[in-house]
Amino acid sequence: MVKVKTYLNYINGEFVKSSSGKTISCINPANQEVVGYVQQSNENDIENAIQVADTAFHNTNWRYNSALRCSTLMQYANLVENKKEELAQLLTMNNGKTIGEAHAEINGCIDGIRYYAGLSRNVFGKSVVPSEDSLGVLVREPVGVVGIISPWNWPAWLMIRGMLPALAAGNAIVVKPATLTAAISMELIEILSEVKDIPKGIINVVTGPGRSVGDAMVRSKHVDIINFTGDESTGVAISEAAAKTIKKLSLELGGKSPNVVFEDADLSKAVPGAIWAFLFTSGQLCMAGTRLVVQDTIYDEFLRTLKEEIEKLKVGNGLDASNHIGPVVSQTQLDTVMEYINIGKKEGKVITGGYRLTGKEFDNGFFVAPTVIAELDDNSRLVQEEIFGPVLVVQKFHTEEEAIKIANGTKFGLAGAVWTKDVNRAVRVAREIKAGTVWVNTYNKFYTEAEFGGYKASGIGRTHGEEALLECTEIKHINFDIKPTYF
Ligand code: NAD
Repeated sequence: MVKVKTYLNYINGEFVKSSSGKTISCINPANQEVVGYVQQSNENDIENAIQVADTAFHNTNWRYNSALRCSTLMQYANLVENKKEELAQLLTMNNGKTIGEAHAEINGCIDGIRYYAGLSRNVFGKSVVPSEDSLGVLVREPVGVVGIISPWNWPAWLMIRGMLPALAAGNAIVVKPATLTAAISMELIEILSEVKDIPKGIINVVTGPGRSVGDAMVRSKHVDIINFTGDESTGVAISEAAAKTIKKLSLELGGKSPNVVFEDADLSKAVPGAIWAFLFTSGQLCMAGTRLVVQDTIYDEFLRTLKEEIEKLKVGNGLDASNHIGPVVSQTQLDTVMEYINIGKKEGKVITGGYRLTGKEFDNGFFVAPTVIAELDDNSRLVQEEIFGPVLVVQKFHTEEEAIKIANGTKFGLAGAVWTKDVNRAVRVAREIKAGTVWVNTYNKFYTEAEFGGYKASGIGRTHGEEALLECTEIKHINFDIKPTYF
């Protein structure tokens, strides 16, 4: 069983207390028991960490030694793999997600670390001969200090996926994980501290409130890039704050992704596909398929089967492997989700769910019944806004054109899916949906090597893949005056 620990900040290769001396508790959303304590840092702590990172970037060989980066990051993957059982348990206890989801997230981290360890030896520039007396070499260089601000819903992977491309490219980093789930994030940093040979100061991690610690990181003139994953409104605040120091931004924000089902879809796949599109991580998933867009000819049958299948699912403590869905992360999140459900009850028709779960097993936790709401106006807040809980809204269409219009009918553009046996239609609709990822006859498949990110209000830039690493570099033109010998 996981031991309750007090986690310290990690600065210049040492674990240190915050300057306030205060801590914040991380709790288990299934029962509100404390799972760990993290430092309540302030602006002084983050400024110190940034200074250290800046110095380490300039004074160590990290940025020039790709073999060192590859071997140390590989070591890290092996250390995480050795502790994957304990990490998955702590992840479930800190975030609430089911133990199966937690294993998937930790395995994703191991895979992602190995991918970027390998990529660190493949940072290529290019060369050009623009005239007979000139040779241009275009070098990909790390930028300096990358600041990573991560959310609570996937607290292991979303921190790792920000850190690894930045490190693999040769940058120094400063990380501020989400406070609610900082215990699992700091456990991964403790493991990272065991890796031999990463120069001191290249990796620094400070926990604390976003509005002070995160904001100070964004405003710092010594931070060259901000890699942020989180809510759209925070993304707007960060863009405004970052503008003063002209830094690069990578913003991975929210979604309200459409899951479009045509009448010729294989319903034996589309129904479970629609269910797990919105229920994975209790709906607290940026790419969740939270708008089910169904063709009118199969609408009634689809909803009937969907309701039957959802009502077979078990909600409960994620550590019990027989449960399919865990709690939402906090009291605040529970209140937000219930507020949306109450609006939905007034404006639409509840197909299933629509309530908080109560009773012995549930009273101390934040459990919501999986909820499906139909017959809402397209302009309803439930249709337009990200709820971040186990709530699905249903929209009906008649023609392909209508389906595309509805799919693109929110400010978001993170992901989407189309279910049909018609290949031509699948390609047409996938190309028309304005989103960074579109699945065909499946949902929620993502891979470290496949770029991920948003159109429209879902963000700027791409995480995953080579693009994420390139975003942590600048390209420099070094030009040589070469006189050919035959002149
Ligand atoms: P959030 O925006 O509240 O917090 C994210 C991080 O930002 C936290 O570490 C927080 O402390 C910090 N923060 C808050 N205010 C800040 C400020 N003013 N300046 C700097 N940092 C600040 O988001 P959340 O509630 O933790 O996460 C849920 C959101 O994340 C959802 O909107 C979800 O869609 C989004 N998300 C997006 C992706 C993606 O890849 N696009 C992935 C996962 C989650």
